[in-house]
Amino acid sequence: MIVVMNHGADKKDVEAVVERLEKTGFQIHLSAGVERTIIGAIGDKTRIGDLALEAMPGVEKVVPILMPFKLASRNFQEQNTVIRVGNIEIGGDAIQVMAGPCAVESKEQLLEAALRVKEAGATILRGGAFKPRTSPYSFQGLEEKGLEMLAEAREATGLYIVTEVMDPRTLPLVAQYTDIIQIGTRNMQNFFLLKEVATAGKPVLLKRGLSATIEEWLMAAEYIISGGNSQVILCERGIRTFETYTRNSLDLTSVPILKHLSHLPVIVDPSHAIGKWRYVQPMARASIAAGADGLIIEVHPRPSEALCDGPQSLTPENFKILMDEVRQVSRLMNRKMDDVS
Ligand code: PEP
Ligand code: MN
Repeated sequence: MIVVMNHGADKKDVEAVVERLEKTGFQIHLSAGVERTIIGAIGDKTRIGDLALEAMPGVEKVVPILMPFKLASRNFQEQNTVIRVGNIEIGGDAIQVMAGPCAVESKEQLLEAALRVKEAGATILRGGAFKPRTSPYSFQGLEEKGLEMLAEAREATGLYIVTEVMDPRTLPLVAQYTDIIQIGTRNMQNFFLLKEVATAGKPVLLKRGLSATIEEWLMAAEYIISGGNSQVILCERGIRTFETYTRNSLDLTSVPILKHLSHLPVIVDPSHAIGKWRYVQPMARASIAAGADGLIIEVHPRPSEALCDGPQSLTPENFKILMDEVRQVSRLMNRKMDDVS
């Protein structure tokens, strides 16, 4: 349930409502906006009737929420969540592009990728140090050495870092190196991991589960927000369908739907959705046109030599073309594109 306070409500009014709710066992999340305060209350909604909240001073209305996600919902927070990473913002006026190799393979590979994506206008460097591979015989990532290389590349380029965590045991390590923690598709409903990243103090890039509905995905975000971290970025990366020509099916309808249902930033990963580099550029353009706040794109200096996801990786040259096109679509959408320098 959400309690909307009216414009004139003062601190005492808010505190009285909070106290009454807490006494009845509700968990409270306050959103103190410039215009008005909104109180999110999570608990046994059969008890709302006994509380006479609407009769309390300063209360404008009580809105029962039928959807199971509350803190992630736009009913709870009307204005967009804008996440600050260094001197850039995700979910603000500017489109942000994260780019880099699927996996960190070596210092040279990563630095070359980083310099090239930066030159083209990316602001965040992606690269996996812990890789979730379908086969246990495939390259599993360089682990801590990979994290060190990411930090070196950040130092050398000024790009921010996003990298995946797969296991709560390595979370402190990953959080120490990265600017944004990525939760991969296979872990979207690893509730234990979600509760842990909620306390890591870093923004979280939450990828959509392979077969997750939008509601399940927002419930996963709800785990992180209710655990104390409201800095969640949703990432559409394609879902499993009957289509086998592409690796997954890019569900771009999720972008306007999420923008309607939620205040969280939404970015799109056309690389993992499609799995074939030649279709990444058009779907990157479409993602921005659909209202996404950014993109995450796999780029490798030599895709044919990549240890992971070469077929979907763009060359730096093709990435530059993508960025020039995305810049044009961004302009049409009245969005800016930042750079880190
Ligand atoms: C990735 O971004 O490297 C990755 C493994 O993506 P996903 O979890 O979407 O498959
Ligand atoms: Mn990949």
